[in-house]
Amino acid sequence: MAEQDVDLFVIGAGSGGVRAARVASSHGARVMIAEEYRVGGTCVIRGCVPKKLLVYASRFREEFEDAAGYGWSIGTPAFDWPTLIANKDREIARLEAAYTTTLERYKVALVKSRAVLDGPGAVRLADGTRIRAKTILIATGGWPYHGDDIPGIEHVISSNEAFHLDVLPKRIVIQGGGYIAVEFAGIFAGLGSEVTLVYRGENILRGFDDDVREHLRNEMEKRGIRIICGHTVAAVDRSGDELVVRLSDGTRVPVDKVMFATGRRPHVDGLGLETAGVKLAPNGGIAVDAGSQTSVPGIYAVGDVTNRINLTPVAIREGHAFADTVFGNKPVTVDHSNVPTAVFSEPEVGVIGLTEAEAVKALRVVDIYKTSFRPMKATLAGRDTRSFFKLVVDGETDRVVGCHIVGPDAGELIQVVGIAVKMQATKAEFDAVMAVHPTAAEELVTMREKAMSYGREAAE
Ligand code: NDP
Repeated sequence: MAEQDVDLFVIGAGSGGVRAARVASSHGARVMIAEEYRVGGTCVIRGCVPKKLLVYASRFREEFEDAAGYGWSIGTPAFDWPTLIANKDREIARLEAAYTTTLERYKVALVKSRAVLDGPGAVRLADGTRIRAKTILIATGGWPYHGDDIPGIEHVISSNEAFHLDVLPKRIVIQGGGYIAVEFAGIFAGLGSEVTLVYRGENILRGFDDDVREHLRNEMEKRGIRIICGHTVAAVDRSGDELVVRLSDGTRVPVDKVMFATGRRPHVDGLGLETAGVKLAPNGGIAVDAGSQTSVPGIYAVGDVTNRINLTPVAIREGHAFADTVFGNKPVTVDHSNVPTAVFSEPEVGVIGLTEAEAVKALRVVDIYKTSFRPMKATLAGRDTRSFFKLVVDGETDRVVGCHIVGPDAGELIQVVGIAVKMQATKAEFDAVMAVHPTAAEELVTMREKAMSYGREAAE
């Protein structure tokens, strides 16, 4: 088979890989990128983008209900799942084409094939073609992981399949308490499914601020989602047309679909890492240094396959920084601190920085400001819902070191608050900003009463 030479070979055309490829090419490198499935990767094809479209769809239910209090009568709304899925698929195809066009415009050679390492300095395509590359970037992302095998695991779907169901399930059990589980619980409940969320721990969203976890759980339950904590799915039995989920305490839940959102694992199997000498980190991701270089000089990795912070914008930054550093003679290190993030649950969650518990561990003096209120729109709508805002402040420097929001547009809000937190703004600087009235966000600059103060006496 033919041999070719390139300066950079990228394995995986997802968010991180595509960004690295086009930036390296713009710096003059000859770049080839391989993708075995669809250009765009998890975020575009079966993650952030289609998920957000489904989230939008699911929110119309409340909009229709709430409209009545504002004088509207709109009859009985009807929802058609196949229409939503077909329209979503069309949009994803459009985005995939746009990604492909971008690669062409930047003169990146795209090969629709699996590619694996063939020792350091070379990769092999599925048809046997060997490509020599001075630099290789692994950007193969992650893949859903279902945990230990249980009886009936073959009946369980992941979020990958949830995007392509023929019919909307009337009843669904979702196992997991992380991003994907709570997001899909909100999607299915909003669209009309009866949702049971099963989580093994004490409360959903482990790692998030405890007030956020509690607040979101209450709000999800208000929307009819049944949340069962402290249990796992022990088995799934088929019984005629339906499935019966057996929980660890023996409870049986009849459903139409069972979805696991029990985490994602770095996609490293069969990549030839051992033959090239690329080492894994203890968390299963490819071990990399601050510049995303693996244990083998010339082989780099970015994004979810490195299992650092598994978020699309982080992968994009890592890919961009790699390309600027290695091909653009502009050394850039990605700052993984204070990364804002949103959970597109219903209602939304937006967070940045330290939780209350983390701050208390890390700092000598911590002040907490928090508020919970009924959003104005809910008043005439007659909806029983509350929003939640919390600021975590370093009591010694007055810096806002954490912000936690649950409520409409929390994702949009946290992007903006993120700028202030990243700039190390103080609580006094937040307070100096005039409120925009009437908004929910004005709470960020009007919270004056400390809800809690830790360590002040000891520090004095
Ligand atoms: P997460 O790691 O967020 O959550 C996994 C959940 O599954 C946790 O609640 C975990 O419990 C539970 N779990 C893990 N193993 C088992 C098991 N064997 N049995 C029962 N429960 C188990 O993963 P997700 O799949 O939700 O999402 C993957 C990643 O994708 C996220 O971490 C995030 O980085 C990214 N993502 C980001 C989104 C966004 O930005 N909005 C949206 C979707 C995904 P425990 O807490 O006890 O460990």
